[in-house]
Amino acid sequence: MAVYAKPLARLIDELRKLPGIGQKTAQRLAFFLIGESDESVRSLASAIVEAKDKISYCSKCFNLTDIDPCNICGDSTRDKSLICVVEEPKDIIALEKTRSYKGMYHVLHGAIAPLEGIGPGELRVKELITRLTEQVQEVILATDPNVEGEATAMYLARLIKPLDIKVTRIAHGMPVGGDLEYVDEVTLTKALEGRREM
Ligand code: ZN
Repeated sequence: MAVYAKPLARLIDELRKLPGIGQKTAQRLAFFLIGESDESVRSLASAIVEAKDKISYCSKCFNLTDIDPCNICGDSTRDKSLICVVEEPKDIIALEKTRSYKGMYHVLHGAIAPLEGIGPGELRVKELITRLTEQVQEVILATDPNVEGEATAMYLARLIKPLDIKVTRIAHGMPVGGDLEYVDEVTLTKALEGRREM
């Protein structure tokens, strides 16, 4: 005997695929949604579909955007001589909240993790290198302060330094093993200011 009616089982299955959602939470969310008005459930469903349809990666920096190039790449007031390299789009949001950085970004979409089979070829490394024209004077490596982030920073520093471009790593007043996203704005600003040359 099936515990859930079929459509309910399907909804719970789909919700369980989301990060951080286990069976219990999926069930709780499904019951909540069923109890909501038709209008609010349709609004949620269409928000998901619309975001998926309209959001893609910026062709320059690989941030998430609904216009190409993105708002940051298209902003003529920003300093094009600086490129800050991060692992994920959410890291840009954390850095932008500090309001202390006015350069450009590049999103790698991950970090080097040999055990998981993620090498430089799986990341947007090639695309970063092609952006390093004469205009670029400094590349700031703001990958996470954990093993994968450090390995990625070392790899990129070795790749970029021979191009005669200054390579810096954000300072670690930051929790080691941490995630850029969860670092508070003051610590993140200090980490940017205290970056050191690699
Ligand atoms: Zn961009």
